[in-house]
Amino acid sequence: MSQSLVYLDNNATTMVAPEVTEAMMPFFRDRWGNPSSIHRFGGSVRRYIERARSQAAELIGASGEEVFFTSCGTESDNMALKGFFALHGTKTRIITSAVEHPAVRNTARYLKKMGAELIEVGVDSQGCLDPAVFDDLPIDEHTIVSVMWANNETGVVFPIEEIAPKVKEKGGVFHCDAVQVAGKMKIDMRTVPVDILAVSGHKLHAPKGIGIIFIRKGIRIEPLIHGGHQEYGMRAGTENVPYCVGFGVACSLAIKYLGEETDRVRILRDRLEAELLKRCPGAKLNGHPTKRIPNTSNISFENIEGEAILLHLDENNIAASSGSACTTGSLEPSHVMIAMGVPYHFAHSSTRFSLSRYTTPEEINRVIEVMPSIVEKLRALSPFVKD
Ligand code: PLP
Repeated sequence: MSQSLVYLDNNATTMVAPEVTEAMMPFFRDRWGNPSSIHRFGGSVRRYIERARSQAAELIGASGEEVFFTSCGTESDNMALKGFFALHGTKTRIITSAVEHPAVRNTARYLKKMGAELIEVGVDSQGCLDPAVFDDLPIDEHTIVSVMWANNETGVVFPIEEIAPKVKEKGGVFHCDAVQVAGKMKIDMRTVPVDILAVSGHKLHAPKGIGIIFIRKGIRIEPLIHGGHQEYGMRAGTENVPYCVGFGVACSLAIKYLGEETDRVRILRDRLEAELLKRCPGAKLNGHPTKRIPNTSNISFENIEGEAILLHLDENNIAASSGSACTTGSLEPSHVMIAMGVPYHFAHSSTRFSLSRYTTPEEINRVIEVMPSIVEKLRALSPFVKD
């Protein structure tokens, strides 16, 4: 493997931006005090957490008091659903889409076992969710609706600005998993009535192990972690100061690059997609052609195993993914492909390419170059194809 790495798995995790690493280092080396300490050595660190909170709030159009640091997107999603259940008990009704990330899907299923009612709303063959569905659903003050902003496998964007007001009108609470959209598209809590929002650091060039939950002023949920008074009583445990600082810087960089850079990524993604669909026989796009975050392309190659494609790409030092990283190791098509009704001989080969602002045109050229021969070779070996 002499060629340099082409990393097209940014929906799984992203490279930590050099500016983020640099901003974090002083908090490992010099400023390692406990922000809750009375003495200046520790206490003086608090203002850096608060600055990071403001930077995070700015990315989503919130105010600082509505943003709480957590350890990851999964924790934020768990906190939203379990924190609601803790107040509403067995009266709780959870409504989610059929294509949520396991962080929401499995939490909702767990709460169903604990006595909550669970309704899962389906998507169409392009992975889109019809907002009109929410007109007829039973939604009241004991209902939490949890719908992701963008799907991690297909990149399809859901009309949150249409769904959230429908939920609010009927008195429900609206939670949105924004892990795949934050930093890729502008989102603004001032204009969309989302009550609770989850964001993860490692999807936007901060390290793994840090995230935020946005809780709109006036919305009540129970904390997931009890203990000290940290995070205004919403998330106990001594703060991970370097990671909070890194998250804040990553958010400021994301704001800086939204627009021009995300347009550049979209152009690269569209070229990759158009060329693969043209050059690889039996290739088909999974997901809506335009209602997508700019960095994601999910393509199936008829009658080929996705795992085999990934291994061949890996031999060429190209990192991509089949479905979400959390489901690799399973031979079943992902729940997202199943919910979209993608036929088995396509669903099995669903391959996700996810770009970042560090992706170059040369890297895209390399994938366009190698992919047709991988498809040709694997198709010749395919157990699905009968002559
Ligand atoms: N939600 C979505 C849509 C995701 O894509 C992911 C990670 O892949 C998560 C939640 C979980 O985030 P984290 O890895 O920070 O726990």
